[in-house]
Amino acid sequence: MKPFVYSRATDPIQAVTAISGKPAGKFLGGGTNLIDLMKMGVETPNELVDINRLSLAQIGELPDKRVRIGALARNSDVAEHNLIKSRYPMLSQALLSGASPQLRNMATVGGNLLQRTRCYYFYDPAFPGCNKRKPGSGCGALDGYNRIHAILGQSEQCIATHPSDMCVALAALDAIVRVVGPNGEREIGFRDFHRLPGNTPERDTNLASDELIIAVDLPAIPFVGSSHYLKVRDRASYAFALVSVAAALDLAPNKKIKDARVALGGVAHKPWRANATEKKLVGQEANERTFESAAEAELAAAKGYKYNSYKIELAKRSIVRALNIVAEMTS
Ligand code: SF4
Repeated sequence: MKPFVYSRATDPIQAVTAISGKPAGKFLGGGTNLIDLMKMGVETPNELVDINRLSLAQIGELPDKRVRIGALARNSDVAEHNLIKSRYPMLSQALLSGASPQLRNMATVGGNLLQRTRCYYFYDPAFPGCNKRKPGSGCGALDGYNRIHAILGQSEQCIATHPSDMCVALAALDAIVRVVGPNGEREIGFRDFHRLPGNTPERDTNLASDELIIAVDLPAIPFVGSSHYLKVRDRASYAFALVSVAAALDLAPNKKIKDARVALGGVAHKPWRANATEKKLVGQEANERTFESAAEAELAAAKGYKYNSYKIELAKRSIVRALNIVAEMTS
């Protein structure tokens, strides 16, 4: 591991000041992804600012009924919190489907937002071609072993997927990410937080290097109290999603769909809000045919590669299955 300078911050402004003007510096939270990447030589920060002692781990309801989750809240604490389990079950389920209990006890919400792709070529510097690790070097996955890679929103520069389960639920919930930087606080809507690869796959998010995530706000959405997170993976635990779906339906008494929230994981460089699916669902009766047509609409633009084309059909079937589960629990 490359040597680095370590310091410990005592408040958010001090943390931001410590890292300002040092683009090769990083904040250290749970460290469950960053330290692995440093050991592999993929991340090589010259300075780490430890933020673990900042008072940013609270979870609570705001006066307008939104729920605020502090950036240092541990994944296991969020998943088991009564407010999250009762009002946002898809988020609790998504968190509990990720990693292992030990990792969830350590990993923070802020760190989960900044997880990096698990593309094999990115993780192993022995592979020379990876535009995300080394801009301009090519993409080893394009013509390589791309079984876990993207089918939506990818570019010729990068076909990596975002690995987080939590972020799929946050995408469906239209969460707001609160950050602080040298110029004060700002809010970033979840749709704008993560990026598609385009010509700059080295950038995963629109966060500046000297901005610190301080909280995530969840809007009050009553019908999301009945929601579901479906994760399809190679084994039952401790595996990343091949495809996942966060889904909620607002059903009228006549089973017509008044509103819908659907987001996908494992299919794109960012958590994928299924806008086409949602549009097709609203106003229709909640039944298998409606769900199939909505899934087809989302995957119409999907593109597979040598080893991952199976994901297109898998994503369609996963959307239908998740919507059936939600319809069953809400009717
Ligand atoms: Fe690198 Fe992205 Fe290609 Fe993977 S898919 S090798 S992360 S450029």
